[in-house]
Amino acid sequence: MSDDPVFRPSRDAGRWDGVEVRPYKDEGDAPFKDITRQALFVDGRLGCELRYFEMASGGHSTLERHEHVHAVMIFRGRGEALVGGTVRQVDTHDLVTIPPMTWHQFRANRGEPLGFLCMVNAERDRPQLPSETELDTLRQTPEVAAFLDGSTPRPKTPTRRRR
Ligand code: MN
Repeated sequence: MSDDPVFRPSRDAGRWDGVEVRPYKDEGDAPFKDITRQALFVDGRLGCELRYFEMASGGHSTLERHEHVHAVMIFRGRGEALVGGTVRQVDTHDLVTIPPMTWHQFRANRGEPLGFLCMVNAERDRPQLPSETELDTLRQTPEVAAFLDGSTPRPKTPTRRRR
């Protein structure tokens, strides 16, 4: 750890010298799409880790929850995030806190890549995936259902009176 290089220059947005671009997750059963992971700071002297995740346009992270908290900063691009029962558009430099045991997912659904920095505890519990019942409950909110289906949410159009 302490032998790691102190300086690791950035070459392009979201790429750094000495940082390997890896698959998002090793296990095959958690659903995700077009997303990579980079471990920026993983150091036994720290109680936390800082990772960088990047989705290609149309990609998304896994819908999951866990006891540990995520501290997220959008690093490039924009998209949408589901946190609990709320879907919000997220833009470069926005901050998102994922509280304990809160369903969350990021989607690059705005026609461009979405990259975010994510700080987590070094020691953390494993993510849980939603059961069918939990998915049904989430889907009862129309915005959440549209988000999970990957359909682009429409701006509300004013209702016209018909004659
Ligand atoms: Mn998570």
